[in-house]
Amino acid sequence: MKAAVVKETAPGERRVALVPDAIAKLRPAGIEVMIERGAGDGAWLSDAAYADAGAAIVGGAELYETADVILTVTKPPAATISKLRKGQAIIGMLAPLTDPGLAAALTAQGVTAISLDGLPRTLSRAQPMDALSSQSNVAGYKAALVGAATFGRFFPMLITAAGTARPAKVLVLGAGVAGLQAIGTAKRLGAVVSGYDVRAASKGEVESLGATFLVLTSVEAEAGEGGYARELTAEERQAQQEELAGHIARHDVVITTAQVPGRRPPLLVTEDALKAMSPGSVIVDMGASSLGGNVTGSRPGETVVTENGVTIVGADNLPATVPTAASNAYSRNISALLLHMTKDGALNIDTADEIQAGVVIAHDGKVVQESVARLLGPQTKGDADVDGTRN
Ligand code: NAD
Repeated sequence: MKAAVVKETAPGERRVALVPDAIAKLRPAGIEVMIERGAGDGAWLSDAAYADAGAAIVGGAELYETADVILTVTKPPAATISKLRKGQAIIGMLAPLTDPGLAAALTAQGVTAISLDGLPRTLSRAQPMDALSSQSNVAGYKAALVGAATFGRFFPMLITAAGTARPAKVLVLGAGVAGLQAIGTAKRLGAVVSGYDVRAASKGEVESLGATFLVLTSVEAEAGEGGYARELTAEERQAQQEELAGHIARHDVVITTAQVPGRRPPLLVTEDALKAMSPGSVIVDMGASSLGGNVTGSRPGETVVTENGVTIVGADNLPATVPTAASNAYSRNISALLLHMTKDGALNIDTADEIQAGVVIAHDGKVVQESVARLLGPQTKGDADVDGTRN
């Protein structure tokens, strides 16, 4: 089986789907690796390093013509989809719940679409394949560094001959994988850190990192669905925003990571909350997206400063800014999935397998993943969440 690694084309994307180390691990399963010329450049992985590890370095045209499986980090652009052929497979983070149109296009081409986003993450044998977690971990780490680098004072308490600097107060909203890593990193930098999440289970996790858990009286913490938060009702959202505003105003740096799968990120920092913050405060919004983020006025990929001097960093793709670490982890995830799905040197699609039932989106010209099929149903016409108004 020929597996091909494409050069990522999304703006600012510097990750690569496989690192050279992976090539020797795939070979015993009958998987030969081709690398599109320059695919690893952004992560400081040269074509020579891939060639030394046993990969063939090829141009784009040859790659699409001969590959059985295309390996990618992010979803492919429309121009790439038209190059794929019937029976070929693509594996990557295809985000089918937020972009079901892509799944529909791949299905129409007869391409087998496999998305790491759909992995059943709580299944212990799936954990080495969990790219959402590995990339969130990188993102949370970088968010704390971005917060520290943007803030005009120190994170730690420093006692020097020139005086004593008090430590920064950091608040992390959303304590999933990214939030917990942001908390841990900000703690290691010496800040005084608090964390908050709607899931009751997160309290113990936040406290185990030595941070304080923020308890809101207006919104009841609960178990969530399958470990994920549910979307709050409009009343709960408003109560949460109002109560959070007071806490946000007392912090120097706020890192927001809140997500609800397949939905817009919840708005946690309102205009009123921003107005109550002190000049020089910093917000790193990891939820920033074209649909809006966790913070009013945040813009993906941009840094904006409010009239009262609050810097809002719209941090939309932080893993791409730590490209070597992110690629190393992703390469292990995608290799583990590829090996899991390979039998006798070929891709063995079997949706009776719990892992495959989550990740295989389309096969044999049909959408096979249930939640994606529901989204593509006649009523929904492929919009994951564009009906609700943000408030
Ligand atoms: P995520 O990226 O979907 O969301 C980030 C965090 O935002 C979550 O903790 C969520 O509860 C929180 N959030 C959502 N709406 C919020 C709101 N209105 N206010 C405050 N916080 C809000 O989450 P994730 O990092 O992907 O993790 C989701 C869950 O999956 C967690 O329970 C995590 O422990 C679990 N998980 C388990 C495994 C495993 O078992 N191996 C692996 C990865 C993740």
